[in-house]
Amino acid sequence: MNVSLTPARDHRADAARMRAARLTGPGHIEIVSLPLPDPAEGELRIAIEGCGVCASNLGPWAGPEWMSFPTEPGGMGHEGWGRIDALGPGVSGLAQGQRVAFLGQHGYASHEVVPANHCLPLPDDMAFPAEPVACALNIFRRSGIARGDRVAIVGIGFLGALLTRLASDAGAEVIAISRREGSLALARRMGAARTVPMLDHHAIVEEVRGLTGGRFCDVVIEAVGKQWPLDLAGELVAEGGRLVIAGYHQDGPRQVNMQQWNWRGIDVVNAHERRPEVYLSAMQEAIEAVRKGRLDLSGLITHSYPLDRLAEALDATRDKPGEFVKAVVTCC
Ligand SMILES: [Zn+2]
Repeated sequence: MNVSLTPARDHRADAARMRAARLTGPGHIEIVSLPLPDPAEGELRIAIEGCGVCASNLGPWAGPEWMSFPTEPGGMGHEGWGRIDALGPGVSGLAQGQRVAFLGQHGYASHEVVPANHCLPLPDDMAFPAEPVACALNIFRRSGIARGDRVAIVGIGFLGALLTRLASDAGAEVIAISRREGSLALARRMGAARTVPMLDHHAIVEEVRGLTGGRFCDVVIEAVGKQWPLDLAGELVAEGGRLVIAGYHQDGPRQVNMQQWNWRGIDVVNAHERRPEVYLSAMQEAIEAVRKGRLDLSGLITHSYPLDRLAEALDATRDKPGEFVKAVVTCC
């Protein structure tokens, strides 16, 4: 592979260097300059335009014991899109300059080399992180939600909001539960039939009991990733219902009320998807859903930061200022 395949108009590639963010310790980021990598057989080099900032980054950002620093350049960024700026040998069906969404792990950078079969063409008029939308589609599929189901969604961030839209469009009656008034308003815009402020545990349980005639919910999706919302979600599941864990629980072990889970005979689904081929097909579905307007991301990607302000983007993802829902970093 040589740089002659690089489009001359691409000044970043001409410099033959790339920039990448890495964590040097809890809450600290540095930008490093590296030689531009060449794609090998079957690979592509992407000039990254943007990368979504995922709440799952907040574990590493806080710097738990299991983390080691510095992290790999570009690491934690897994929601990237950009334009192909070099093709490795044997890659066909994709062209230089073409915009793609891709499945990668080092997207907080100006460039990333990924397998060509982990890239999906993105229409030129669309620039958005397909990966987190695919995440919502995967969770939705695993939730088994059907028409007429009563569904509670605990935690209305980007994921919870998309799941509210998918569940209500599928004919479910959604009760959205969230801490912030702005999130409850967002849930109503996304089709929630009811909203409940996530304040007092007992009050929430009683309100959902009342809203469901004492039966509770056929499906409850926990989309926060903390102990209390997990406890709450478990209590809202009807007998024989399903508890879907969409939150990312990475800050230590959890306790569950197994006696209650046993008694109610609930199904528990850990809805995170790891298989790349399943992710890629969900990303394709995400691109189609956004293109056709079935999913509307306006109002969901609320903040954008340049790569060198990734630290601010992560702080905002943690602190959720104002109407914050989700941030992207722009990489070029
Ligand atoms: Zn993510």
